[in-house]
Amino acid sequence: MNAETTACAVCGGAGWVLEDSGGSKVARRCACYGDRRKSALLEQANIPRRYQNCRLDNFEVHNDSLRDAKKLSEKFVKNYPAQEVGLLFIGPCGVGKTHLAAAIIRELIEKKDVPCIFYDFRDLIREIQSTFTPDSILSESDVLQPVFQAEVLVLDELGAKRTSAWVEETVFYIINYRYNQKKMTIFTTNYPDIDEEEDRRDSFYKKGEESLVSRIGVRLRSRIYEMCKVVEMTGDDYRKMAKQAGYRF
Ligand SMILES: [Zn+2]
Repeated sequence: MNAETTACAVCGGAGWVLEDSGGSKVARRCACYGDRRKSALLEQANIPRRYQNCRLDNFEVHNDSLRDAKKLSEKFVKNYPAQEVGLLFIGPCGVGKTHLAAAIIRELIEKKDVPCIFYDFRDLIREIQSTFTPDSILSESDVLQPVFQAEVLVLDELGAKRTSAWVEETVFYIINYRYNQKKMTIFTTNYPDIDEEEDRRDSFYKKGEESLVSRIGVRLRSRIYEMCKVVEMTGDDYRKMAKQAGYRF
């Protein structure tokens, strides 16, 4: 049994209680209402189980870049919805990009009742592909509705899957729609960001190393730069190190 299936003892689950006010009855929200709304929002947010316990105050700071990233995340939550731009966390695996992104939306839900959603980039692409039938209208698709409508979207592992031209077009359409609606998006990516000229030059020398722009295209990358503050995070794979340190023989 959880909170949703146990009716509130005060209001019987209605969410309202009647009170006397100068001889007439007035309805006010029962205290249980806010809690139920928060747990519904949390459920809808779709934060992966692995990141369920991520909070800003349990984020481990190992260097200055991580300290700055944490500060910016706290500021984002504190200022929301007054800020103009979202966040793009860039850095190698294991430095805590997804931790911060998940923690931000959890705190926005808990502190400010903001409808948020977490999406893995690969899942988003799969869902886009599933909606591509000749007569489907993407913006009306039920599966993608939350991605368009959530006040704050986390798009995790940007560029982690190769896209075709039409998927790239569609991702651009979604992100651009959110941009026009002034809805905040928080991205994470493992792909280093190298500017376009540098990227062209570099590609001659190190073919193996891909940049963000080669994964998501010039147009989407430049749109994301207009809608996000870039937060670079550096360091070792702390997740792996912590795991290794915890193994006992
Ligand atoms: Zn109640």
